[in-house]
Amino acid sequence: MAENKRDYYEVLGVQKGATEEEIKKAYKKLARKYHPDMNPGNKEAEEKFKEINEANEVLSDPEKKARYDQFGFAGVDPNYGAGAGGAYSAGGFDFGDLGDIFGSFFGGGFGGSRANPNAPQRGESLRTSVTISFEEAAFGCEKEISIERVEQCDTCRGNGCAKGTTAEVCPDCHGSGMVQQRRQTPLGFMSTSVPCGRCGGKGRIIHQPCSACHGSGQLRRRKTLKVTIPAGIDNGQTISLRGQGNAGKNGGPAGDLLIVIAVRPHEIFRREGTSVLCEAPITFTQAVLGAELEIPTIDGKVKYSIPEGTQSGTTFRLKGKGIPGLNGRARGDQYVTVYIETPRNLNREQKEALRKFSDTLGESNYEQRKSFFGKFKL
Ligand SMILES: [Zn+2]
Ligand SMILES: [Zn+2]
Repeated sequence: MAENKRDYYEVLGVQKGATEEEIKKAYKKLARKYHPDMNPGNKEAEEKFKEINEANEVLSDPEKKARYDQFGFAGVDPNYGAGAGGAYSAGGFDFGDLGDIFGSFFGGGFGGSRANPNAPQRGESLRTSVTISFEEAAFGCEKEISIERVEQCDTCRGNGCAKGTTAEVCPDCHGSGMVQQRRQTPLGFMSTSVPCGRCGGKGRIIHQPCSACHGSGQLRRRKTLKVTIPAGIDNGQTISLRGQGNAGKNGGPAGDLLIVIAVRPHEIFRREGTSVLCEAPITFTQAVLGAELEIPTIDGKVKYSIPEGTQSGTTFRLKGKGIPGLNGRARGDQYVTVYIETPRNLNREQKEALRKFSDTLGESNYEQRKSFFGKFKL
């Protein structure tokens, strides 16, 4: 029985504070001596061999050794003192961040968090998406989103019991949720921790379940949340709301809520980082004579003068009219590329006037034509 266990150091015949090497040496020597193959049919040797292996399992693992040094058997065996036989724990000790914290608080009440359904578990993170306009992405906005998530039942405060009742500590596992299962292996009997069948690994038996959650302690709820979307967010980026996902189990923290942002394309603006890009049609006359244009920006219209002789394809920069940088970083610029919209559907008189005008133009009016076609003189 667990209560009659010998100290692990004593089992290996080494001093407390023995080095890794000393422990290894002592174990090897004893394991050879008591190996079942060397002692066929010898029950006593078999028990000894098991004891040696158990001691080595703990003392050869720095983490387990530290727990054993601090808490004794309770530090390495979740069922120590619970009356369960066979204390060899073959299940790995896989502590998450939480396992460690809870582990040091509750001493014997922890086990491998992967194996023990009674251990604190973080709730799942949830994922949703929200679609916003180009301007909302630029300047930030508040959105209401509706999600369905698992929350703690507020009728029973998560304990699953009807009002005025409490759960019974499971008599099979004494509340740990795990029981030891012995099995024969080539190295002798080993016991592994398995979830307790009587309580389903919960460690508690609820005789009168809460009427709201039927004993689970949790409820699925539709929840509307107000989300602040920061200025400068871009299509495809994710906002993470800590602790707004599904509720955790056994006192574990809630998961997160991840909100993927989809930005609707704008009719005239495009975006590259914090730059806003657009193309603006101008008339032939505006290009020739220069003009004061009214350019749309995400702040509204602004006036911009293009000079006489502006070429199609010229890009102008409107400083500070781009997208604000995320987290208060500098605002970008807007780039406006102008192109000449060639007039269509001219009547005869207009065409005539244009031809007359064109006849007045010479090489000096068309520098680019001159140099481009000049190169192909044959
Ligand atoms: Zn149980
Ligand atoms: Zn409830």
